[in-house]
Amino acid sequence: MERTFVMVKPDGVKRGLIGSIVTRFEQKGFLLIAMKLMSIDRTLAERHYGEHREKPFFGELVDFLTSGQVCAMVWEGPNAIANARGLIGSTNPAEASPGTIRADFALDISSNIVHGSDSLESAQREIGLFFDGAQPPGLLFRAASDGASIT
Ligand code: GDP
Ligand code: MG
Repeated sequence: MERTFVMVKPDGVKRGLIGSIVTRFEQKGFLLIAMKLMSIDRTLAERHYGEHREKPFFGELVDFLTSGQVCAMVWEGPNAIANARGLIGSTNPAEASPGTIRADFALDISSNIVHGSDSLESAQREIGLFFDGAQPPGLLFRAASDGASIT
């Protein structure tokens, strides 16, 4: 059993696609562990996409991620990381297979509506970045069967 970090990016939130994206994960059989609508500041955006710091599109990527609210989620299931990437589809929506989220809902690589962790290491890092111990009161997580915290 594995957990992965998935995020509806600002374009997906603005276009009202949270429900459609959540539905696909639920229909696939993933278990929703945590979810929150939030704004990302530049520091968090830069840390989240730290691996791309040297890329020419990094500034544009950070501008985009901080341009509106995102919906941050943790999903659980067998091979959750690879399975979620499969549901999401290729980075460039133009190359994504029909039936994937990016192929069905997006046109452009710079606004491809959803993020999914690409490895166990990034999943753990990203879950820690977005769902650390200091949560606002009232934020609920699905109780883990073993009583463990989500991070
Ligand atoms: P992902 O793991 O499939 O999201 O892809 P990457 O980790 O390689 O890139 C992170 C995000 O940066 C992608 O989801 C795109 O939104 C964006 N991105 C990647 N390549 C490009 C590019 O060449 N130009 C622009 N503008 N954005 C890009
Ligand atoms: Mg990536």
